[in-house]
Amino acid sequence: MPPIIDEEVCTKCGDCYTMCPQDCFDFKEDEFPTVPYGRECWHCGACVIDCPVDAIHLELPLPMHIVPSPALYGPPKEGEQEDLRKAAAFSRSIIQEE
Ligand code: SF4
Ligand code: SF4
Repeated sequence: MPPIIDEEVCTKCGDCYTMCPQDCFDFKEDEFPTVPYGRECWHCGACVIDCPVDAIHLELPLPMHIVPSPALYGPPKEGEQEDLRKAAAFSRSIIQEE
């Protein structure tokens, strides 16, 4: 999901436009940034971290919340198996409700 910019807080500095590795943002001097290429966002979180006034909010896709990807976090460590099993069951229950 594309980043959401709080225009009540944004100072129009353009940092997000400059640093996004996916070029999701567009920015013109003295205007709020826009996100015309939000579908390219890979949820790295860099814009959220680097925004100097915490004006960017990122809504992660549901699967990224609930089931950590081994591709991102490596295989589960000892003791994490049960938590992952519960998280996967919870994820399935939500998907079935929708
Ligand atoms: S980095 Fe933050 S304050 Fe700067 S333009 Fe982007 S959203 Fe606004
Ligand atoms: S989360 Fe990463 S890829 Fe997505 S808009 Fe922010 S900096 Fe760009």
